[in-house]
Amino acid sequence: MAAQTRKYWKALKCPICGQRAVFYVTMEAVKDATQYPVPFEVFHEDHKFLIYLDSGLLISRIEEPQPTLSSTPQPTKKKKTKKKKTK
Ligand SMILES: [Zn+2]
Repeated sequence: MAAQTRKYWKALKCPICGQRAVFYVTMEAVKDATQYPVPFEVFHEDHKFLIYLDSGLLISRIEEPQPTLSSTPQPTKKKKTKKKKTK
């Protein structure tokens, strides 16, 4: 059997949507690291967030999502055009 890349499964609460996010990391994520912790992008549903892994692939910390980027589509706020009552 060929040496497979071992997957280390992780589960945490997604900082963006608050749902449980399950993903895996491999040693590939940290093998070229020159310093720790190593930033690692986690893709969850249709968004992503950043975590930091230490040399043992443990989650060192979770990066809070960046404040709205200009490219991020904002949920359409229902704009209620308040029309002044003309009487
Ligand atoms: Zn999420």
